Amino acid sequence: MMLEQIKAMDQAYYMNTFGERTPVCFTHGSGLELYATDGKKYLDFFAGIAVSGLGHSHPKFTDAICEQVKKVVHTSSLYYIKNQATLAKELAERSCADKIFFANTGAEANEGALKLAKMFFYKQNKPRYKFVTLENSFHGRTLATVAATGQTKYQKPYKPLMPEFVHVPVNDCKALEEAMDEETCGLILELIQGESGVHPLNEDFIALAKSLCEKTGALLLVDEVQTGMGRTGTLFAHQGCGIEPDIFTLAKALGNGIPIGAVCAKDFVAKAFEPGDHGTTFGGNPLATCAGLTVLRIFDEENLIENAKNMGIYFMQKINDLNSPKIQEVRGKGLMIGIEFKEEIAKDVNKSLFAAGYLTGAVGTKILRLLPPLIINKDQIDGFVDELEKIIQ
Ligand SMILES: *Cc1c(COP(=O)(O)O)cnc(C)c1O
Repeated sequence: MMLEQIKAMDQAYYMNTFGERTPVCFTHGSGLELYATDGKKYLDFFAGIAVSGLGHSHPKFTDAICEQVKKVVHTSSLYYIKNQATLAKELAERSCADKIFFANTGAEANEGALKLAKMFFYKQNKPRYKFVTLENSFHGRTLATVAATGQTKYQKPYKPLMPEFVHVPVNDCKALEEAMDEETCGLILELIQGESGVHPLNEDFIALAKSLCEKTGALLLVDEVQTGMGRTGTLFAHQGCGIEPDIFTLAKALGNGIPIGAVCAKDFVAKAFEPGDHGTTFGGNPLATCAGLTVLRIFDEENLIENAKNMGIYFMQKINDLNSPKIQEVRGKGLMIGIEFKEEIAKDVNKSLFAAGYLTGAVGTKILRLLPPLIINKDQIDGFVDELEKIIQ
């Protein structure tokens, strides 16, 4: 089927939440390569919004998923699930978390984290309701996570929202200090804000966040839905920032495209959830947790977290070396990179890169976001930077 037919069918039958999409439909891929219905080849520097960490149709991943599908896909959590228990063990052993709960998406993982934080205080008969989050944050599209998300464009039509969310500006220590008190249930942070254009929190702000949580008794929740799974050069971004959250959440790259999210918590918080307090039908099913286990195994076998770190440094250096008068700033960590332009050219640059066969993302009018698979190599980066130079010169 040709793109025009697919587009017509989409417009007739699919709810129009995505507006005019990039005019392409991919049929298959391999590594960074994706092939469209017209046969044209693209190189994926966006990984389906930080999801396809292993790239496309990674042979070991494909084999493991096919083998699992042949055995069993779903049983429900009414029964014990070996992959679920094993992936929980793996994530706990590799992080400060002791206990894990699996959901299906990032928003749903964050919902679980918010519920767990509330339950933690409820079970002590000292309920706390207030959550502090950041302006320009992104935590998902469910009603509670929209309330957590500090962007009015996502909130306005859905008011009244879940109350008691307070938003403070990024890296504003004074505002954070004023917002946090003994009534605060949790502080929720993305250590590098992704959706709003790759904005890292600075060290002082992160240290203050941790100490204010300790002082007020509030829980520290880190949303690692985008920063997690090796993207920033450590398995989880908080491991590169010297802090231990009480709860952190995962999704996006955890299943390399098979939907899975996770709530990861320290034991003193996790034990607030008792039988019946939370649940899910699909979460952590044998297929989804097979995907998570396989992702971790391939990370180890192919040293992909180290690669993300090294290629990230190389990539940012190469962009900086362009010394382009059009570029204001290159920021981020590992393979989570934002290029801020001085002028409002991000959408045009994104379009020109697409025409040249590169998939990237524009944020607003000035920022280009790059989230390539962790398997990327220097040649692919060189090719991209050459093309970028041609486009913005
Ligand atoms: C993408 C994202 C989410 C939402 O994840 P979904 O799977 O789309 O629900 C939440 N938080 C962050 C930081 C994200 O990047």
